[in-house]
Amino acid sequence: MAKTSAEESIKAAIRDVKDFPKPGIIFKDITPLLVDSHLLQETVSLMAATFKGKNISKVLGIESRGFIFGTLVARELNAGFVPVRKKGKLPYKTVSATYDLEYGQDTLQMHEDALKRGEKVIIVDDLLATGGTCAAVRKMAAEMGAEIAGAVFAIELEFLKGRQKLQDLPVHSLIKY
Ligand code: AMP
Repeated sequence: MAKTSAEESIKAAIRDVKDFPKPGIIFKDITPLLVDSHLLQETVSLMAATFKGKNISKVLGIESRGFIFGTLVARELNAGFVPVRKKGKLPYKTVSATYDLEYGQDTLQMHEDALKRGEKVIIVDDLLATGGTCAAVRKMAAEMGAEIAGAVFAIELEFLKGRQKLQDLPVHSLIKY
């Protein structure tokens, strides 16, 4: 019961912004959720819950809203945090993953020494849409030898079927549309 009402309050705090960043997109704005200390804490503890006690050593947060939830989830799990950034932003040697967008391609990077072989990690972002971003991060982390235990999102746009792109990866999300 308590869990349901927390999720309802979180959902009520997410703001739809029409036609941002381009016509036809309904952007899920999480900033009204972030300014509410209680809802922010609630969101982070629900996101972390599934992976508590599972020996997760690092959280991979995807630029940029995945940094916000990712560091807080990492704190909750006593794990480290790895920023997954857009190309050209990280200062040291990097590994890259390129993936297809609706129009064109994008590249994400991690520092080449960010993960150790065999360590258990999770991927965190604010929102799962088509799953392309998360799939690219998963592939990059797997190539570095990490064991990817799952992915967690505050929001999932179910109609875009992102889970299909992530196949057998355990995927968790709090709020579904
Ligand atoms: P995808 O690779 O399609 O799963 O897209 C996920 C990434 O795009 C996440 O980092 C989201 O923050 C962002 N994103 C996609 N669609 C939306 C949306 N409607 N509102 C807010 N962010 C979105």
